[in-house]
Amino acid sequence: METVPRINKLDSETASLIAAGEVIERPASVVKELVENSLDAGAHEIIIEVTKGGLELIRVKDDGYGIQREDVPLAFARHATSKIKGPEDLNEISTLGFRGEALPSIMSVAKVEMLTRTWEEPVGTLLVAEGGNLLKVAEAGCPPGTQVTVRDLFYNIPARKKFLKSPASEGRAVATLVERLALAHPQVKFTLYMDGRRVLYTPGRGELREALASLYGVEVAQALLPVSAEEGEWGLTGLISPPWLHRSSRSLQVLAINGRLVFHRGLVRAVEESYRSLIPEGRYPLFVLHLRLDPRRVDVNVHPTKLEVKLEGEQEWIARIMATINKSLHSSQGIAPALRKREKTNPGAILRQKEFFFTCRGTEPEVWGEYLLKRAKDDPPWQLQEPSLEEKRSPLPQMRILGQIKNSYIVAEGEDGLYLIDQHAAHERCRFFHLKKALEEQGSWPSQVLSPPTSLQLTPSLAQALGEALEILASLGFLLEPFGDNSFLIRGVPVGLPPGKEKSVLMEFLETGERADQERLLKLLACHGAIKAGDPLSLEEMAGLLREMQQWGLLPYTCPHGRPVVVRWDWPTIAALFQRTGGDR
Ligand code: ADP
Ligand code: MG
Repeated sequence: METVPRINKLDSETASLIAAGEVIERPASVVKELVENSLDAGAHEIIIEVTKGGLELIRVKDDGYGIQREDVPLAFARHATSKIKGPEDLNEISTLGFRGEALPSIMSVAKVEMLTRTWEEPVGTLLVAEGGNLLKVAEAGCPPGTQVTVRDLFYNIPARKKFLKSPASEGRAVATLVERLALAHPQVKFTLYMDGRRVLYTPGRGELREALASLYGVEVAQALLPVSAEEGEWGLTGLISPPWLHRSSRSLQVLAINGRLVFHRGLVRAVEESYRSLIPEGRYPLFVLHLRLDPRRVDVNVHPTKLEVKLEGEQEWIARIMATINKSLHSSQGIAPALRKREKTNPGAILRQKEFFFTCRGTEPEVWGEYLLKRAKDDPPWQLQEPSLEEKRSPLPQMRILGQIKNSYIVAEGEDGLYLIDQHAAHERCRFFHLKKALEEQGSWPSQVLSPPTSLQLTPSLAQALGEALEILASLGFLLEPFGDNSFLIRGVPVGLPPGKEKSVLMEFLETGERADQERLLKLLACHGAIKAGDPLSLEEMAGLLREMQQWGLLPYTCPHGRPVVVRWDWPTIAALFQRTGGDR
């Protein structure tokens, strides 16, 4: 017979190690808790230092309000906090911390030293603790503010220490986190030192774009579009990428709700949804968004590290956020930012042109310290010029068409430079908006009768797929009728689809194996109905296309697959290519 295990109460040391495990997982979690304390203390400047990726030492220093001598030991007691008093306060949390668990948790798994002084006290306090025990509390000279040093994380729990990654990878996690915290708090000056080297810095002047520029470089920062909605009880501000700037991962997506960095799947999806037809599948937009909500509508007490939060009326926020993002995306209509040469003329400049787009659209810039240093040494030769307000208002300027090259690109002169227009991308984009608008306004795209109808013979699985998509197909003008034995009769095709194209569009729609949704069909129709690269165009046809672009004016520099549509060289850039300076003839 098995013996029934007896229940016993854990001693306090074991209990606190378990509790610590919930909040402190790795060096980055220590940094997060300490920096959040500094932010709660109203710091204007926060200096973070780590050595060996934080495995050896983590130090966070702030100029916040400090802790009074008497309260210093209390700060390290479990469930001791200055931020809430009773249960009712849990409904309306306006600080980042409130659980009173971080410092005791850190103290139980590392060697800790705190130096702190309030702005009123003439002398500060030093506290030393190790593995959960207070070793010393004494007077000490120090500037106002707080500095916490954490050494030898998990020195007393080998089982956890084993699971830490290499110093390099723990260090990367710290850098990423500090970057995100800095973007969530542009009003605070952040500096991060790793092994004595300054790897990251923000000026703390409250300008998000400026903070972003110091972390990711001027090009990215200048390219981003502003978002702003302020309506009393809520507000959304921040920066989002234009549709031509995207990445293969979500690495630059920062969402802060009331100053708290959070991950919220629903909200992130909402933002990504706004980009859906604008960027290629499998690519992600960049954004830094600050959402301000009534704290009573945000429940932060659902996760030990407070990374996840619950929102009351989530659907409502999602709708508002999408509307705001869409507005900002669509007011960015205009031409691709001009490429402007940075400094002296470089004969290789025209070659670098390619690199520029590569940098913006293809590569995944590393965001760590090494990257920043490399960037500082090796500034790219091109700089993005944000379109001026005027450019944003008028989608495309008046242009004189100079001709067509390679039967693929339209060359035109505008007042501000030379334009190259990708005829296929441009037309595809116009068609896309046209189809989309019809769907939104009339619910469907008109069909044109095929007489006589043609038949389409399919494999059983494709026939099955087509049978399921009949309604979607009909909404875009494909009228199909089952004809027995895995075949269908095509009775009508979308108006505007070039004759004879219907079968290839249908096959492409069915064969990729992706979900048969309306948006994808719309893209296919936009693409197949569009002028191709290689089609010779008359001057009238080119002018017609430009007019259409003006009409659909939205974001003409991306097509549904996210490629650029228009590229402009401004006059100074062209002059620089020929090494012309001002008065030369
Ligand atoms: P919490 O942040 O949830 O209150 P912590 O264990 O992180 O719990 O901190 C306990 C208390 O110590 C805080 O409530 C705060 O009063 C004080 N404290 C911690 N860090 C700082 C700091 N950097 N500046 C001022 N006070 C601090
Ligand atoms: Mg805290």
